[in-house]
Amino acid sequence: MIAQFPPFYPDELLYSAFARYYVRSGHSNLRDCMKDLYPSICRPTVEYSNALNAEVIKILSDIEDVIKKHTMYSNYARFVSASRRRKALRSLVDGTTEYTTQLGIPVNRTGNRHLRYCPLCASKDRSLYGETYWHRSHQVYGVTVCSEHNCYLKESTVWIHSKSSPALTAAEVVIPYDEEIIACQNKIEIDLNHYLVAVFQQPVSLKKSASIDRFLKYRISQTKYISLRGEHIWADQMFRDLMQYYSGYKQDVIKEAYQISKTLQGKKNNPLAICMICMFLDIDPADLSEMKAGKIMLAYDYEQNIIRLHNEGYNYRQISNMLNASYDYTKRIGVHGGNHKQRPINISPKAGPRKRDYTAMDADYYQRVKNAVDLVLSNDGRPEKISVSKIERMVGLPQRCIEKLPKCYSYVRDHIETIEEYWIREIEWSYQNNIHSGIEMNITNVIIHPLNLNRSDINRIIPLLDNNNSIHVRIREMIDM
Ligand SMILES: [Zn+2]
Repeated sequence: MIAQFPPFYPDELLYSAFARYYVRSGHSNLRDCMKDLYPSICRPTVEYSNALNAEVIKILSDIEDVIKKHTMYSNYARFVSASRRRKALRSLVDGTTEYTTQLGIPVNRTGNRHLRYCPLCASKDRSLYGETYWHRSHQVYGVTVCSEHNCYLKESTVWIHSKSSPALTAAEVVIPYDEEIIACQNKIEIDLNHYLVAVFQQPVSLKKSASIDRFLKYRISQTKYISLRGEHIWADQMFRDLMQYYSGYKQDVIKEAYQISKTLQGKKNNPLAICMICMFLDIDPADLSEMKAGKIMLAYDYEQNIIRLHNEGYNYRQISNMLNASYDYTKRIGVHGGNHKQRPINISPKAGPRKRDYTAMDADYYQRVKNAVDLVLSNDGRPEKISVSKIERMVGLPQRCIEKLPKCYSYVRDHIETIEEYWIREIEWSYQNNIHSGIEMNITNVIIHPLNLNRSDINRIIPLLDNNNSIHVRIREMIDM
């Protein structure tokens, strides 16, 4: 029999309200309190909801609303299909565990975590309400900083763990007073934390909407990361730019370009990875409520653009510059209206079979090839090896085409390294990296482990070490030790 159920505080977890109820119920043991709340003895879930007694459901009045506003439902529900969102909500209302499958919550994300809190929010709660409570927005996947106070969140002793022993622990009982506040100084980390919480707080629509991968593809279709005719997304280039954008922010959800591809194919629904991509693309968090995606008409739009500009009096050279496309391609689309598949290619009787204008292509592509090479070489993270095929992929040239473009080819060739030269760049990177992370500087930590090199490989780089370079001198000392 529930005497007095405490009203919710703003952004409070359902678990938190139950834990506060336990404190004020006067029950001396958890078992008795659980009889008030649940139809059978269970392990109270920290982030979601268990099956509840009819009396509790009646007190909560709108249980659907409680689940949407006082559990972590929207953290995952936003990024699954509308039908799975509805099924997960139904399961939570009915008190079954099907929601974990419907929301696609990976097992490794349920274990080994503690409830987090902000010491400044705790003291604010205490002065406002006389007690503190567990805030939902501090538990959002990937959130490390309080978006109200921009200080780092602290880990409590309360496990969010499917195997921990049953408990209802009130925040007031375990959150200490007068704790050290560590302000976050990292702008991008603060921005991302604000973004994650803003997305989390958007209502989750139960209406049919575009899937997250469809929505992202639609938004990317308005950027440079889609091929001119919309068939390919340049995940490699996007990955590089994204790494640049988040440089200085320590994360391990997006470490390789394929993780972006998988997210865009709908094969990966890590909310942090998705939000990182959305923030990078400058998508308003409110747009993630209904996720509207229009029709991607890129190829058609592109062709229409060329035809329109040509009708306005621009020549194909000018148009190709304006659209950042190759001259050859622009002219072909302009002359054949984009229907070059259906229409026979015009062959002048004198000219013989139509050939690619490699001289024009060479000039067209030179700057882009140069940019791509420079981008690979200036990458802040682990160095990457330059290869002809990598550069072709980055600038959108067909395979083995660069060899036919003399200026482009010579630029790439001039920057291709021997494997030993590449190892040196990797060692320099590893050296800097270890200094930053404070790991002991020796040959094992700097060279052997990170690069997977053996002694005979190392002997091959010794002749390349430069005595005037302080890092090289230090590396040589390590090798000699
Ligand atoms: Zn705070």
